[in-house]
Amino acid sequence: MAERIDGHTILIGLMAYPIRHSMSPTMHNNAFAKLGLNYAYMAFDVTNKELPGAINSIRTLGMRGSNISMPNKQKVIPLLDELDPAAEMVGSVNTIVNDDGILTGYTTDGTGFMQSLTDENLDIRGEKMTLSGAGGAGTAIAIQAALDGVKEISIFNANDALWQQAEKNIATINAKTKCRATLYSLEEQDKFRSEIADSAIYCDATGVGMKPLQNLSLVNDPSFFRKDMIVFDTVYAPRETKLMQVAKQAGVDHVFNGLGMMLEQGAQAFKLWTKEDMPIDYIRKLLFSDLDK
Ligand code: NAD
Repeated sequence: MAERIDGHTILIGLMAYPIRHSMSPTMHNNAFAKLGLNYAYMAFDVTNKELPGAINSIRTLGMRGSNISMPNKQKVIPLLDELDPAAEMVGSVNTIVNDDGILTGYTTDGTGFMQSLTDENLDIRGEKMTLSGAGGAGTAIAIQAALDGVKEISIFNANDALWQQAEKNIATINAKTKCRATLYSLEEQDKFRSEIADSAIYCDATGVGMKPLQNLSLVNDPSFFRKDMIVFDTVYAPRETKLMQVAKQAGVDHVFNGLGMMLEQGAQAFKLWTKEDMPIDYIRKLLFSDLDK
């Protein structure tokens, strides 16, 4: 690190709370070092209270930008100068770019999801998707998929606090994109089965399958799936979720955890700041080879 930091090093932040567990500093600093880029990425404990001062410091200190995570992803919006259209539709920002004092907010979870499929030579444009979940991840995935040309999205959500967000998502998609979105309750199990059967991809963005729900899946019957479809879980720890096991039992060809999406959301931010491609395979091996065991 000492050889890397000098008087010209450009700072990029991560503003969230709690944040010390994040893998993002390791991911970005290793990518900068690998490519010989004179940037440094640091995590800062920032709650909603400190956020206005922290965002202003991006301008004051001439930082190139920042990642933003909970609890600041929505609260940051009024503090920015510009919003990328996808971030505006999602209503959430995870990446800020500073261009000569003008701060623009982006969201890269949705582009990360779509790019992770492209990385596998899969293209869901013009196809139908069934998606469970309408929180941060589900919203970003639904909006970006609709913007990128997915033809139809069936969203299933529990009758919980995120139901209103799910309603908002389908209203936004139907009003602002050519995609047709429909919302169903997860209690409508017959509909859940028939919508999945009709889709090119089923994506779970609920976190069911992750601790403490690691033994659970919203789909337990392999006959819900076709062999020629994609089954995608946004969870990446454990590496193989219960949902993925059910999909594999069904013989599904393309079964993914959220690791590719996680790496790609970082890579999309990396590109916005540096205009360079993150060396994804190198970072995947460096940070996540233990998860493959
Ligand atoms: P969130 O709390 O914003 O939303 C959770 C969603 O799951 C809501 O729609 C909620 O209704 C639904 N849900 C929660 N518990 C449920 C249950 N028991 N049964 C049915 N539905 C349930 O969460 P989030 O930030 O959107 O994250 C969701 C998951 O996506 C987490 O596992 C997170 O780790 C993962 N994620 C992955 C990436 C990635 O890059 N791979 C990025 C963001 C989030």
